[in-house]
Amino acid sequence: MTQAQANREPAQGAGPIIQIRNVSKWFGSHQVLTNINLNVQAGQKVVVLGPSGSGKSTLIRCINRLEEFQEGEIVVDGHRLKEHGQLEVVRREVGMVFQQFNLFPHMTVLRNVMLAPMKLRGLSEKAAEQRAMTLLNRVGIAEQAHKHASELSGGQQQRVAIARALAMEPRIMLFDEPTSALDPEMVGEVLDVMRSLAGSGMTMLVVTHEMGFAREVADRVIFMDRGQLLEDAPPAEFFGNPRLDRLKQFLNRVS
Ligand code: ADP
Ligand code: MG
Repeated sequence: MTQAQANREPAQGAGPIIQIRNVSKWFGSHQVLTNINLNVQAGQKVVVLGPSGSGKSTLIRCINRLEEFQEGEIVVDGHRLKEHGQLEVVRREVGMVFQQFNLFPHMTVLRNVMLAPMKLRGLSEKAAEQRAMTLLNRVGIAEQAHKHASELSGGQQQRVAIARALAMEPRIMLFDEPTSALDPEMVGEVLDVMRSLAGSGMTMLVVTHEMGFAREVADRVIFMDRGQLLEDAPPAEFFGNPRLDRLKQFLNRVS
C-alpha cells in the first residue's frame, strides 16, 4: 500500500460512492439543475448524454465542487460536499479531465504529472517522478516524458492529462467531453486509455458524444435535458428501447 492509500479514510459503509440527492442549481435566476437524484456505486461507469446546455458539465462540476449548488446534497465517499473543510478531501478523491487539457505548455510532460502530488500530497521529487513515469507508461507516453507538453499532439496531451489526474490516486474520475476538442484520428487513442481505466475498476462519470464508448463501456447511461435527469438505464435499454420522446429525438439527431 502506498502512503497516499494508507492516508485515505476508509470507505464509509457499502453505500454508493457518489450520492446526489435533490440537487438544484441556479446561475442568477436561471435554473440549470432541477432536482437531480443519482447514485453511483464504486466501480460503476456512468455515461452522461444530453443536448448542449442541458447541464451535463454543471452536474459533474458540482461533484468535485468546481461549482456550488443551492439545494440538495452530494455525498462523495461518505463526505458531504457542503460541509466545511471537505474541499481538499473531494479534490483528492475526485480526478477530472476536461475538453481542453489545461497542461502547462512550457513544462515537460513529466513535470506536469509530478506537480500536484508534490504540492498537494507532499510526495518527494523521486517518488513523484516514479509515479509519473509509471502512469505515463500506462497511457503510452513514457517516451515523450521529457518533451514540452506543447510539442505533443492533442491526443497525446489528453492522455497526459489523464495521467496527471491519476497521479493524485483518485477513487473517482470525471470526464467532461474529453475527446470533443480532438482531431478525429486522435479520438481512438484517448478512448482506448479510458477503456483500459474502466477495466481497472475505476469509478467513472463520462460526459461524451461517443455513442460506441457509451454502449460498450457504460453500466448505465443517463440522459439530461434542460437541467433535468430524464433517463437512467443500462445501455442496451437506453439505446435499444428508449421510452421518452425527447430521448428518441436526441438519439435520432446524434446517430
Ligand atoms: P452542457 O454541459 O450540457 O452543455 P452546461 O452545464 O455547460 O451544459 O450549462 C447548463 C446551462 O448553464 C446553460 O444554459 C449554460 O448557458 C448555463 N451556464 C453554464 N455555466 C454558466 C456560468 N458560469 N454562468 C452562467 N450560466 C452558465
Ligand atoms: Mg458541457
